[in-house]
Amino acid sequence: MTRHDDPNTVARTPGPGPRSTAPGSAGPDELRFDERGLVPAIVQDADDGAVLMLGWMDAEALAATLATGEVHFHSRSRAALWRKGETSGNTLALVGLAADCDRDALLVLARPAGPTCHTGERTCFHAPLLEAPAPVGITLAPLFAALRQRFAERPEGSYSARLFADEDRPLKKLIEEAGEVVLAVKNRDHGNLVWEVADVLYHLAVVMVAHGVAPDEVNRELSRRAGERR
Ligand SMILES: [Zn+2]
Repeated sequence: MTRHDDPNTVARTPGPGPRSTAPGSAGPDELRFDERGLVPAIVQDADDGAVLMLGWMDAEALAATLATGEVHFHSRSRAALWRKGETSGNTLALVGLAADCDRDALLVLARPAGPTCHTGERTCFHAPLLEAPAPVGITLAPLFAALRQRFAERPEGSYSARLFADEDRPLKKLIEEAGEVVLAVKNRDHGNLVWEVADVLYHLAVVMVAHGVAPDEVNRELSRRAGERR
């Protein structure tokens, strides 16, 4: 890939000519870095789309991100390459990357190893000025994060850890809870239905974590099906 050794050089503006990749997609050498040689990079949680932070990348940080699969930025205060999480351990594993229409901003999809903000908050955007951001859809990322931690550490007394210790138990619970969803529907019991749906999602998440299915793999499959326009 092309290195922008001169940060004042504006990268080739994508024109009507041939692109390096599929139409509508941007190669890293097509980015328009600003006069400091930087592009803003918005980081989104790949599991639920939560906006985690805004950082700045130069060509070096982008290359390091692509080469290592771990998100790197250019630290403006230290004027140096910065691997996110290099001191805190709260790294960001790269899942996807997109440029905006002007090729002067990046959207980074990542899986965080822990809280992204240095304050310990999950996201840097935790100070609402107008209205607290409401989660969109069913927000399962905190559940998956907690389950991955229980799976790795198996804390004593944890219900999830007990489920992880037995292959059959979470599978039986999943079937059982699915049956309870059916009963709640038949009983026209809305409150209980919400409860049982949560139970199914929890036990399904346990099975996914136990067997290494990442939420974004499922998202990708759902997107693929949506693309088939059935
Ligand atoms: Zn922060």
